[in-house]
Amino acid sequence: MLGFPMGGIASFRQQAGRAGRRARDALAVYVADGFPVDKHYAAYPEELFDKPMNDIVIDLDSKIILEAHLQCAAFEVPMTLSDEEYFGPSTKELCESSLKKDAEGWYHTNTKFLPYPSKHISLRGVEEEKYLAVDVTRVGKPGGQPRILEEVELSRSLFELYEGAVFIHQGVTFLVKEVSHDSKMARLIRADVNWTTEPRDFTNIDAVQTKRIREIKGSPQRAFYGRVELMTTVYGYFKIRNGAVIEGVELDTPPWERETTGMWLDVPKPTLQLLEAHAINAAEAIHGASHAFLNQFALAKDLGTECKAAEKEYKVSESKRKRPARLIFYDPSGTSGGVAAKAFDHVSATLETALNAIEVCECEEGCTKCIVSPACRENNLVKNKIGAQIILTAILNRPIDVDLLEYCSELEAHNTIVEAPPVDVAAGVEVEKEQ
Ligand SMILES: [Zn+2]
Ligand SMILES: [Zn+2]
Repeated sequence: MLGFPMGGIASFRQQAGRAGRRARDALAVYVADGFPVDKHYAAYPEELFDKPMNDIVIDLDSKIILEAHLQCAAFEVPMTLSDEEYFGPSTKELCESSLKKDAEGWYHTNTKFLPYPSKHISLRGVEEEKYLAVDVTRVGKPGGQPRILEEVELSRSLFELYEGAVFIHQGVTFLVKEVSHDSKMARLIRADVNWTTEPRDFTNIDAVQTKRIREIKGSPQRAFYGRVELMTTVYGYFKIRNGAVIEGVELDTPPWERETTGMWLDVPKPTLQLLEAHAINAAEAIHGASHAFLNQFALAKDLGTECKAAEKEYKVSESKRKRPARLIFYDPSGTSGGVAAKAFDHVSATLETALNAIEVCECEEGCTKCIVSPACRENNLVKNKIGAQIILTAILNRPIDVDLLEYCSELEAHNTIVEAPPVDVAAGVEVEKEQ
């Protein structure tokens, strides 16, 4: 396996398990990539074997997801309406509207998904657009044709297919010459280079319109749900040889903007002032609090957040990029969404468990039980457990333990956080009460 599988630990074990069937010995080799998740497992290899499997959480209230399951289930064995017992009350409606009924009353997979329904359907309800990586090395030469190397999911393409990127396909090295975001295509040529590349990027995640507001139990603070704009800028890349940066290249690529849905929580102004008064870095605190929330939310794998990068937060010169004091979670583009809405619906309970996890955790500076996320895009370098605890305590309107405030940061960093600006509220939005 080259790189930790996107599907997580379950995928990893499944892929490794495919080797050596029929009682024959086999060896599975996992070559760690440079992604944070790979670094995590390189540091804690025992988790590859010992870590308990996360519970599979499927939102069977979502008809989109349920239909996908029915199409696949009916492919294995034709279904009847009595299968409602397993698939819930929407089974009948979906069987009749989306599956194919035969003369004897059995329901079969809709022919448009044949011969392999699982290929058309992502069982978790997540479908991603793809970019084409096209080898144009021989174009313009006699008989030379462009050749499709592979399809790269949108969420990876931005970080693998940028101009100047070294792209490895089946052990052969290519250089990315040109990328078109309109036609979702990258042109690559064969090149024998002895370096690799690592993109440098940031993503701004901004709330643009509030569509729902929800009470947080016992607190005057509110949770918000609505339209969110994502803007990712790959502003350069490093050329790396033998683990050392040999050159930093600036790129002037247009930001990649897309809109999605998300939920957010604002850090109250007095809390920001309190953090500042005690020299607790607000970016560290917000990043830690965001991860703490995700760590306690079952569908977190399908949510994104604004990860804070050390390169930005600990920059010597003051950054022009000031970010709002806001914990924000979004449905990654290319997904059918709905996960941020779930997080919004369960916001109070999730905040409470997140705060509790920090309070009882015996680690010093944060671990995967409290504020560290193996999925952090920025390696969890920007974090502060006490700051995260203060923010969650404030949002839940609990009294802040004065002992926490004795902490003093050693790092001199510029403040990159400003008070969260108000967000436009759609007409007719009323505050939803906690039951
Ligand atoms: Zn911890
Ligand atoms: Zn992060």
